[in-house]
Amino acid sequence: MDALSVRELSKVYKGGVKALDGVSFSVGEGDFYALLGPNGAGKSTTIGIIAGLVRKTSGTVSVFGRDLDSSTMAAKSLIGLVPQDFDFSQFDRVFDVVVNQAGLYGMRRALARQRAEQILRRVELWEKRNAETRELSGGMKRRLLIARALAHNPKLLILDEPTAGVDINVRRATWDLLRLINRSGTAIILTTHYLEEAETLCRSVGIINHGRIVTSTTIDDLMSLAEKEDIILYSDSAIPTEAAERLGGTLVGARTMELSVAHSRGLNSVFAELDSMGVRIIGMKNRLNRLESLFMHLTGGEAKSSAPAEDDPVFGGDAAEGDRE
Ligand code: ADP
Repeated sequence: MDALSVRELSKVYKGGVKALDGVSFSVGEGDFYALLGPNGAGKSTTIGIIAGLVRKTSGTVSVFGRDLDSSTMAAKSLIGLVPQDFDFSQFDRVFDVVVNQAGLYGMRRALARQRAEQILRRVELWEKRNAETRELSGGMKRRLLIARALAHNPKLLILDEPTAGVDINVRRATWDLLRLINRSGTAIILTTHYLEEAETLCRSVGIINHGRIVTSTTIDDLMSLAEKEDIILYSDSAIPTEAAERLGGTLVGARTMELSVAHSRGLNSVFAELDSMGVRIIGMKNRLNRLESLFMHLTGGEAKSSAPAEDDPVFGGDAAEGDRE
């Protein structure tokens, strides 16, 4: 049985924005699934509907076979949600945050306290159990959000952009914790716009763009599509047309050529061939980053997507490249 099954989900917000347009995908039991896409693609809306925070326009969601409409409580009790932002009171104590959450799901106090201890130890916050949340570092607060989501022992953990805007150490620590949680049998679905995050952590991935799932597959299958690199080469003098033709490139300026290079061919052979024709390359950059290249393959040419932010780590630049493990 799937941990999550989403069928033909649509959402039109007041004012007419069509955020989702027939989204369907499944997350297997114990799977680690990334919902990957640029800003405005519909990730948060999808997560919001699954978590019962956003009202869908049409479609169905079921969690371990429980329909979210007809078996709402049963479905919800199987889900733990980690929101994007900290939303606990800054004066609440760490231990109480987890115990109270378990209480909300009907767990008896004694059991909730036991459960809270177990989880806080697991996320390495037990030492901080009596601290007020405002005393925690950013990384600790993030771990507390995860601990709280696990309070009622959900079988599916949902995280909305768990590492957006966090520094590299917190990101790594969060990744380690999520791996641990997944290894213990909890299915995880997270939203991200870092290809690297999906690649490093997850087994399966759904790419979403303009409110539609472009593909839902395994990470391995997805990465096998990324077999070409689109580059721009700069020479110190005019590049002869024959050189561009021989390599299958396109001259976009007298000294500038665009080229698609298959990994099997390798960049060295390109440089050697140009060198043999007397063309000296003084600079190179990637025309598209890897996710954009994947988009090109998957959508047949539409590389840019819904309103990428200037500093978007995947769609607007390659800042995330340095974070790769
Ligand atoms: P993502 O999480 O992938 O960035 P969202 O689900 O937040 O995407 O947004 C999808 C689309 O829906 C965007 O065009 C966004 O502007 C719009 N949208 C999101 N929330 C609302 C809302 N509360 N009211 C109106 N439009 C919204």
